[in-house]
This record gives sequence, C-alpha cells and structure tokens, in this order.
Amino acid sequence: MASKQAFWSVPAKDGEPDVWVCMSCLSEAFCRKVPMPACPTCHGVSTYEAFTLAAVQDWGTEDLIAKAVAAQAAEEALSAAAPAAPPMESVQ
Ligand SMILES: [Zn+2]
Repeated sequence: MASKQAFWSVPAKDGEPDVWVCMSCLSEAFCRKVPMPACPTCHGVSTYEAFTLAAVQDWGTEDLIAKAVAAQAAEEALSAAAPAAPPMESVQ
C-alpha cells in the first residue's frame, strides 16, 4: 500500500445500518466510515451504501461478509476503548 487510506467518518445510531458496502465492486465493506476520495478497489466515487450486517450476511459473498464482520468488530473495539461521549464531569 503506497499511502494510508483516508476515510470519511459516518456516525450511526444504534440499530441504524452502519456497514458501508461499495455497490460498484461489492468487494469492500467498512463500518461507520467510507474511504475517500474513492473506493480503494474499483476507484468508484459515491458508490457506498449503508446496510446492516445482517443484510450483508444475507446477500453478500463470503469475502464481503468476512470484511463486514471484521470491520464492525474493529469499530466496536475502537468505540469501547474510546467512548464517543465525553464524561459529564470532565476536569478542565
Ligand atoms: Zn468499489
């Protein structure tokens, strides 16, 4: 990989679709973020649509499902390590 992939962060509420799949190549899946400026595999722009993990598992290829599962697990580990909301009593 020549350069680090950059992403747009896409916050999602619990229960909302948060797995972003490239509808052009159907081989990239990310959780709560989309690559910018384009899909790293097919270089399509604005090709990503949000699905629930269950939906991806319903119609995705084995490879796509594996990526979606890994992406969501990584995202959950990240949000567990760094809570999105700051504590109420923050010391300034
Ligand atoms: Zn693509």
